[in-house]
Amino acid sequence: MEIILASKNLHKIEEIKNIAFDNKFEGDILCHPDIEIPEIEENGKSFYDNAIIKAEYIYNLYKKPVLSDDSGLCVQKLNGFPGIYSSRYSGGNSQKNIEKLVIELKGVKKSDRKAKFVCVVCLYLSPEEIFLFTGEVYGIILEKCIGLNGFGYDPVFYLPDYKLTMAQISSEQKNRISHRSLAFSRFFKFVDKI
Ligand code: IMP
Repeated sequence: MEIILASKNLHKIEEIKNIAFDNKFEGDILCHPDIEIPEIEENGKSFYDNAIIKAEYIYNLYKKPVLSDDSGLCVQKLNGFPGIYSSRYSGGNSQKNIEKLVIELKGVKKSDRKAKFVCVVCLYLSPEEIFLFTGEVYGIILEKCIGLNGFGYDPVFYLPDYKLTMAQISSEQKNRISHRSLAFSRFFKFVDKI
């Protein structure tokens, strides 16, 4: 099976390739920069909408099976924000996004700093065959960054079970427990059966 990955985010591409390897996926995943993936406006109202929007756009371009994902950080105290706006929360880079989040949660006690990373994967085989897979991981937002691994909000996302942030665990560990790993593993199990 040959499938196009509808993402230009190099961190994500790397993670997804490793998750595919861990799941012994035997198909070929065509990725940026080997295949041109244009910027796609994510104007949906949910992770599901955005995952389908990205997959549909690339499917219409190449008429081949497409895999896309949409992900983000949902903070309970902020009513699920930044959610689908995670990458553009502050209008700046990841560091600025974290700074804004830390300011928004200033003075909020630890028990009210619950958050989750969410990932929705879309497998778009044709307009009649669209499949969605979800993964979530739960944590607590810290007041400052700890750790150098990962990307995005990882340095402020504390995993109580591990007593470490998502930026302190190794990439191998992240690929076993992350929202992306859970959603893609569900996809890989599914695709094994079709
Ligand atoms: P997307 O590319 O539209 O799915 O945006 C995802 C955004 O959510 C990223 O730019 C990050 O800000 C955040 N995000 C998603 N997954 C992760 C992760 O594994 N670690 C840290 N931040 C993430």
